[in-house]
Amino acid sequence: MLHETLRKKYEMVIGLEVHCQMKTRTKLFCSCPNRFGDPPNTNVCPVCLGLPGALPVLSREAVTLALRAALATNCTVHETSVFARKNYFYPDLPKGYQISQYDRPYSTDGRVEALNADGTATTVRLERIHMEEDAGKLLHEGFPWSKEMSGVDLNRSGSPLIEIVSKPDLRSAQEAHAYLTALKAILVYSDVSDCNMEEGSLRCDANVSVRERGTEALGTRSEVKNLNSFRNVMRAIEYEYERQVNLVEAGHKVVQETRLYRADKDETASMRSKEEAHDYRYFPEPDLPPLVISPEWREETRKSLPELPAGKRARFVDHYGIPPYDAEVLTLTREVADFFEEVAKGCGNGKAASNWVMTEVMREMKGRENAEGEVSFADWPIAPASLAELIRLIDSGAINGKTAKDVFARMWRSGEAPKAIVEREGLSQVSDTEAIEGAIREVIAGSADQVATYKKGRTNTVGWFVGQVMKKTGGRANPKIVNDLVKAALDAI
Ligand SMILES: [Zn+2]
Repeated sequence: MLHETLRKKYEMVIGLEVHCQMKTRTKLFCSCPNRFGDPPNTNVCPVCLGLPGALPVLSREAVTLALRAALATNCTVHETSVFARKNYFYPDLPKGYQISQYDRPYSTDGRVEALNADGTATTVRLERIHMEEDAGKLLHEGFPWSKEMSGVDLNRSGSPLIEIVSKPDLRSAQEAHAYLTALKAILVYSDVSDCNMEEGSLRCDANVSVRERGTEALGTRSEVKNLNSFRNVMRAIEYEYERQVNLVEAGHKVVQETRLYRADKDETASMRSKEEAHDYRYFPEPDLPPLVISPEWREETRKSLPELPAGKRARFVDHYGIPPYDAEVLTLTREVADFFEEVAKGCGNGKAASNWVMTEVMREMKGRENAEGEVSFADWPIAPASLAELIRLIDSGAINGKTAKDVFARMWRSGEAPKAIVEREGLSQVSDTEAIEGAIREVIAGSADQVATYKKGRTNTVGWFVGQVMKKTGGRANPKIVNDLVKAALDAI
């Protein structure tokens, strides 16, 4: 661990490059299915195999999705953009080049608002978003011949990606996490991608450098690749920060290079010296005309965007009277936001709906998260209408808060409606003053010492009496009524 004085001395500067696989039906330049998980090399054709003479045809659906991503992140969309060849050799790239966008991307200058855990917000500027095709995948394990050789699966070759490049606006691993969370929410909301990290739909490279606080000039950066979970992004950034600070403190220079994050060892290792753009010999793709996105296409796409997380947050705060932090948590995924909103509408109590969803519901859902810490909200064990009914039972005084938690636990397990549980188990709250007064008389009769204490002016003993009466009524008495009646009975003695 880096010493606190060094942490105070050096600031980390982070920019992220996020590759997002778009959920089109076909690949970017051919009609092969864009689908994860099929047997190797079954979704391929002459175009995505890179056979000589095969010609790419740009998918309109892919451009529309890319357009949605740009508009949802406040980017400027350029009417004319150009595809370029990025030349390099790799065994998973049969053509020997990747079709990407270089000096004329379709969109630039965006902005994403990221909310940090401490309630502050960071505005992250986007340098650009460009479209490109994905490469295939090398298979190093899981086959009988894996010890002797590797295989190549070209199903992913030619899948449509957007690369979202941020400016170096992030200053901590936590901010990077907040930014990725916000970006992912936007991409999922706008139906651009499922952002499934386990399937590689969202991949991230981090550019990390350090500089002394208070200075302007950027330090030499390293680029860390192979970050396939938010957790790994944070860990790799922390590792790089410490490594670079130690280098600088020891009087060495940080070398500009590409490094690989190894999750099993939690460290980064040098992969190659950083390539420059000219190493790729970019030139305009001769097989594709410039892409023209008409203002009509752009505006039509803008109109088709759903309410995005930022808008939903503001509306939840405004309409349901919940704090901004609650609104942030509730809008991270569309499914949770929709669930909350149905509960809030059904019970007419936004604050209670938010409390229940954020505590009880989220705690139960957490138990279902996968190895990447992601929870699938595809199926809920209870309907939002049931939770709304439970909140109405509390608000009408039919059950108290403690009973409600028990009922909730049963609902969650069985899916049964709360009213049915309350009626069958006889859990209705006792608001009948006669029954409560009877219990109070019994408690007072058997507690001469405590009564004497109360009479000496130690009025804080009221709580003890309330507790005893609650016990006698099996925890079902209305605590407010008990409190009032206990005070009245003690004062009358
Ligand atoms: Zn194909």
